[in-house]
Amino acid sequence: MSVEPLKHVTGLQCVSCGGTCALDEVVYTCGACGGNLDVQYDYEAIRRSWSRDDLEANPDRSIWRYHPLYPVSTRLEAPPIGWTPLFRADGLGKPLGLTSVFVKDDGRNPSASFKDRASVIALARARDIGRELVTGASTGNAGSSTAVLAAAMGMRARIFIPRAAPRAKVAQLLAFGAEVLSVDGTYDDAFDLCLAATERFGWYNRNTGYNPFTREGKKSVSFEICEQLGWRVPDLVVVPVGDGNIISGVWKGFEDLLKIGFIDRVPRLLAVQAEGSAAVVQALEGDGSIQPVSGETVADSISVSVPRDGAAAVRAVQASGGFGVTVSDEEILAAIPAVARGAGVFGEPAGVTAYAGLKKAAEQGKVEPEETIVFLVTGNGLKDVASVLRVAGEPTPVSPDPEALVKVFNEG
Ligand SMILES: *Cc1c(COP(=O)(O)O)cnc(C)c1O
Ligand SMILES: [Zn+2]
Repeated sequence: MSVEPLKHVTGLQCVSCGGTCALDEVVYTCGACGGNLDVQYDYEAIRRSWSRDDLEANPDRSIWRYHPLYPVSTRLEAPPIGWTPLFRADGLGKPLGLTSVFVKDDGRNPSASFKDRASVIALARARDIGRELVTGASTGNAGSSTAVLAAAMGMRARIFIPRAAPRAKVAQLLAFGAEVLSVDGTYDDAFDLCLAATERFGWYNRNTGYNPFTREGKKSVSFEICEQLGWRVPDLVVVPVGDGNIISGVWKGFEDLLKIGFIDRVPRLLAVQAEGSAAVVQALEGDGSIQPVSGETVADSISVSVPRDGAAAVRAVQASGGFGVTVSDEEILAAIPAVARGAGVFGEPAGVTAYAGLKKAAEQGKVEPEETIVFLVTGNGLKDVASVLRVAGEPTPVSPDPEALVKVFNEG
């Protein structure tokens, strides 16, 4: 059985005003109010033509096994994205008194972050509509992800980064062949300059939130979580939040599966933010509206003063019956060796922030001990080694001489 993906897309709906339009009518945001758009599907038609048995028979081990739920016809087979490992993390759960904690390691994507899920769908859309030059603003991960996939698809990538982007991420961008523009400012400054360039020069823009297709790729993680758990739906999914596009995608993924009848309930979501960059959590604890914050945190990938998909993120957490927590930079950094030692996963600061938040929520008694919990690791630790070295300790110097070694150990 096969499903023609684009046939089931019914249009776009604005997250803010609820207005709708056709898929080909606008490229980025709502024509009426400027709000972010959300892709709509004919779920009944998908349900009739696609089943869990079809999935079981599908040998594809990448995000493309769920192609009927993506709004693109272009498909990129290599490098493969998604189907990242999901496994038990008892070494982390048990000390917190939790019996069923799983980690989903998305650092194992081609550019070593979760962003590849989003970039591949955004770039497939670019190809679908005949665009060959893609741009984006990024502290590094969205950019390096765009760069590797643009290279794979024979497109050009022009990426704006804040000056303080971690070196390894810049190295990735350059290695993958992107043209890199280093902006003398913050992520928000780079984002705005990239938008201006898009308006002025017409490059295809992949920016988080602004581009409605990134969420469509990010939702794939929820498809995988359910299938990898044997269609047992977790009770709680813990997500690091910057712009809020991952968490709104995670929610959409579960809702998609619910609407096509592959699952019969959805999990609660726990949104975790850094204290200095907590606009979404503050909105959840306040009246639901997003207010700008400083955005300062060691976790560059979630350092955002105005979350670009904040409204959708707040809505997702509320609809799930979930909640938010904030963690300090110290708690984030401490989570790097904790996750490395407890689960065998090396994460960058934003990458381990979900675990830091889970730990805090568990200590505050906000999590049930027997719940099935999945936390996401969203980026690999090698992307920001400087942060790791702040907490991982120092090597012990020793001369190349066995006597010197004896001395080192005798002295403790
Ligand atoms: C982008 C990113 C996030 C946050 O995703 P948002 O959609 O901005 O909320 C978290 N972790 C890593 C490693 C990222 O690159
Ligand atoms: Zn609108």
